This record gives sequence, C-alpha cells and structure tokens, in this order.
Amino acid sequence: MMRIAVVGGGQLARMMALDGLRLGIQFSFLVEPDESTQCVDGLGEKVVWDLGELLNNDDKSSYRELFEALGRPQVVTVEKEAVPVEILRGLTSFAQVHPNPDAVYQTQHRAREKQLLSRLAIPTANFHVATTCAEVRTTYEVFGLPLFIKAVESGYDGKNQWQLHSEADLESFERERPTGPWVVEQHVRFDREASLIGARSASGETAFYPLTENLHRRGILIRSLAPAPNLPEQTTRNARDYMERLFNEMNYVGVLAMECFVCGDDLLVNELAPRVHNSGHWTMDAGICSQFENHVRAIVDWPLGNTQPRGPKGMVNILGSRDLTKHQPRQPGPSWLNGSSTFHWYNKTDRPGRKLGHINLAHDDLQTLQEQLAAQDQQLYGEA
Ligand code: AMP
Repeated sequence: MMRIAVVGGGQLARMMALDGLRLGIQFSFLVEPDESTQCVDGLGEKVVWDLGELLNNDDKSSYRELFEALGRPQVVTVEKEAVPVEILRGLTSFAQVHPNPDAVYQTQHRAREKQLLSRLAIPTANFHVATTCAEVRTTYEVFGLPLFIKAVESGYDGKNQWQLHSEADLESFERERPTGPWVVEQHVRFDREASLIGARSASGETAFYPLTENLHRRGILIRSLAPAPNLPEQTTRNARDYMERLFNEMNYVGVLAMECFVCGDDLLVNELAPRVHNSGHWTMDAGICSQFENHVRAIVDWPLGNTQPRGPKGMVNILGSRDLTKHQPRQPGPSWLNGSSTFHWYNKTDRPGRKLGHINLAHDDLQTLQEQLAAQDQQLYGEA
C-alpha cells in the first residue's frame, strides 16, 4: 500500500488527502505540538512531533523513529514552505522527499527566491536585500515611494510586511526597529495579479493549469478566476517557460505555484510556493484533475491528469471574521450555496483573517461568472 507523509496538517494537507485517498493512497501528517489542527482529522495518522528537539538531536536513529511513526511512507511531501529543511534532509535516508529539500530551501526565503529568479533571468520587481534600517533608507532614495518591505521568512498573507507611502511611514518603520533582513521592493503598478500552477512528475512529465486571475485585499487572496480573461497566448507561454526553467533548475517534483503581477502583456514574478496553492482551489470542481490530485500523482510518479477546464471557473475564499459588526460568516450555511457552486470547509476555528473554507463557482458565460463572484464577495464581505 502506498503511503504519503505530509509535513503539516492544515487545509492544504486535508485537500491533498481527500483526493489521494480516492486513489487508494494512505496518509500520515507530521504536526508540531503547538500546531492545533483539526483539518486532517479522520484522514490518516496525525503524528505530533517536536521538530525543535529532533533538530537538537539529529542522529540517524531519531529520523528512523520519526519515519516509523509516520507509518514508513514511500514519499514525504510538504503543505507549507516554513519547514526546517534539515528535517526533510534527514528523512531522505528513508523515503523520497518531493519537492526536494533544496527546492524548499530556495523558495522558503524571499531573498534566496528572488536571487534564484534573477539568476534564471525571470523578471521580478526591482528589489534590494537590506539588513539594516540604514540600507532600507538608501534603497528608498533609489526606488522612491511607495516601497514594499518584506521579511525574508515567516511572511504570508501580508504578514511581516510594511508598505511605505510617505517619509513619515519610513520614520515610523525606523522607530519600530524591526529586525531584518528584508527584501525591499519597488512598487509595481500592475494591472492585475495572476498565478500559474504547474506540476512536474518524478519522471519529468509536466502539466500546467491556465493562468488564474487573483484579487487580493489587505494582502490576502479573496477570489480567483480561471482562465484569466483576455491574456495573449504569448503571456501564458512566457509563464510556462519561466516555470520550466524553475523546474529544471531545482529538479523539482510536485506542484509549484508562481504568483505574478500582470503589467500589460508582461509578467513579473512576485512569489513562488513549493506546494499546492490557494489560487488553484478552483481546480477541485472544474471537471479536470485537481491540483491536489496532480500533486499526489507527480510525487508518486503516476501520469499527470488533465489540467484544461472547459469554460471559466472561479473561487471565493471564506475568511474568519475580522470585524464582528460586519456580516461575515461564523458558521457555514446553505444560504451561501446555489446550483452552480460547491462549498469546502476546513474544520478550523474562527480567527480574524483565517482561511476557513472556500466556495467554487462555474458558469459557461464569463460575464455571468464574474457577476456571481462579485455577488458572493459582496455577501461575505460587503465589498465587491
Ligand atoms: P506577497 O506577500 O509578496 O504575496 O504580497 C501580498 C500582496 O501585496 C500581493 O499579492 C500584491 O497585491 C501586493 N504587493 C506585494 N509586493 C508588491 C509590489 N512590489 N508592488 C505592488 N504590490 C505588491
């Protein structure tokens, strides 16, 4: 029996397992003691392990113990990038690890990631890696305002990020004295944001979903639409070419997500995620092979499935209540559903801004789907 161990036990692990179980694959999940998660309950073995302790005592026998506790998986994978790569390296003595630890190492750190993109001649925003506030100020003098400052690690959903719009913002950043290093980026005046999700199997087969258009609010993904409308073929070809370069350079196996700014017909790559991605959740109900199933197929080296949907598809995230005076959801309810939507709930407790679930929508007519996405957004957040 094939078994996959997933590092992490959040909603991405949940959706991976829901698809993998259907293929007859078993799952275990490696979670840390402080990682309270019910997302994967009932889907496989949840193994709680103190990774800090393992790092302090990383002889081969402790990794064997972990491997045994995980049920001797053939493949280990990740559902998040913030994983100590030494743990992944330690497990390579016992199982295939996909994506490989070096690929996770490259993409879990914004500076390494940006340097990788530059090395491969993949366009990005102008950036500078700064370690002190003085260097941030020098960069500000070159790039001007607005300026984006992003911690190299532990930044997601707009966290550990500063947007400077004025000299006063810079002064308050300096007063706050946060600790670097940071990637300091020039502001990109993009028309919209898009992402590419692709998969590469262990034997080198590749498959790409269409580019997806994404709308973020306060740094968090709110909704997606695929295929991104009105993009020239060449833009899609460029995006695939960039991802092919990344696959080859990193000897990558699994699903990779690439978030981009669209400026006219050009793309600037903003961020990579070495995993399945929120902007690919629409693939679950699109009549094709989902990103989760393709990730599983890629890492166990099975042929990849169809990635080309017929007709437009969309997704709206359900976030935890930010402000209880707004009519945001506390509990999933049937009023959110209609004949053309499907509903996914992750079993998480409500916290402001937390991703609790999502709704997928589909309609053959693009304009109708766009209206439905806006209406769903309006219903959940009072914005459209
Ligand atoms: P990130 O954490 O890098 O994914 O950034 C979160 C969101 O902030 C992005 O999806 C963009 O909407 C916005 N953003 C980040 N970097 C820049 C930039 N250099 N210029 C303009 N907008 C940005």
